[in-house]
Amino acid sequence: MRTCTQPTSTVELLAAHLHTAAEHGRRAANSGAVCRHIPALAGVPSTGFAMAVAGVDGSLLHTGDSDHPFSIQSLSKLFALCALLRHDREAWNDVGWDPTTSGYGSVADLERNHGRPTNPFVNSGAIVVTDRLITHSGDAVASTIGLLRNADARAAVDSDIDVARSESSTGHRNSAIAHVLAEHGYLENPIDVVLQQYFSQCAITASVKTLATAALFLADRSGPSAILDEASVRRVNAVLLTSGMYGAAGDIAYRIGLPSKSGIGGGVLAVMPGKGTVCVWSPPLDAVGNSAGGVAAIDEFARLARWSVF
Ligand code: GLU
Repeated sequence: MRTCTQPTSTVELLAAHLHTAAEHGRRAANSGAVCRHIPALAGVPSTGFAMAVAGVDGSLLHTGDSDHPFSIQSLSKLFALCALLRHDREAWNDVGWDPTTSGYGSVADLERNHGRPTNPFVNSGAIVVTDRLITHSGDAVASTIGLLRNADARAAVDSDIDVARSESSTGHRNSAIAHVLAEHGYLENPIDVVLQQYFSQCAITASVKTLATAALFLADRSGPSAILDEASVRRVNAVLLTSGMYGAAGDIAYRIGLPSKSGIGGGVLAVMPGKGTVCVWSPPLDAVGNSAGGVAAIDEFARLARWSVF
């Protein structure tokens, strides 16, 4: 006979989906490899795993190392962009919004475009975002951390100085990008200041719980958010869908159908407008540079919960 252990409420059902999806993600993580691009990140344990689902109804479900602050890397580009849009809604004109297949660190793409970035999620666009945030607030890292703490002022969010230094000593490509931007007149602040802030911004650490709840303003359709105006939220989600997952954005849109952003620290964050957000941390990356376990877990969760913007 069946006992009454079947999930009943929506939250219980989502919790069951979360656990199934997490198991799926943990298995898929075995196919990836931890990023060696930043030396200080090479020692991150490949078995680390965490997943959180935040609902616009205030629910927060999680599993694994969900309080562990990990290196958010390119996930910071999303929060820095939103922090900038709070100062200047038209900042898009400086960073672009078009997809590219040239890779997130392409200097050639930048040269072809006469120094204008293609979108805010490739490194050139993100470096311009950091530059403009310095102009508006004086401190791009503090502004980004401030936005990450919007849902919880006491959340453990910091910038890891060892990771920032490690990238600073090996970040020749980003340095080249900054010089090309400056050559074409796209930077307002000194190159060294912008790069130091950019590396420190990428070195921010936060947990999946913090990231999922901090990003809820991108999912909330109940009216103008206190964080960002509605038009900006729509634009950010659109560009996340077309450009948030490196060279796999089209594949992720086709397979999962959620605006998503990933980082080489193994984090992936996806937004389901009107419902909530899901964030996974699993360090091993696939061939494109996305977290293998993170993408698999979000894919499975989205399928089970029927989350898709389409
Ligand atoms: N700090 C890294 C870089 O600029 C971030 C890369 C990423 O997560 O995509 O290369």
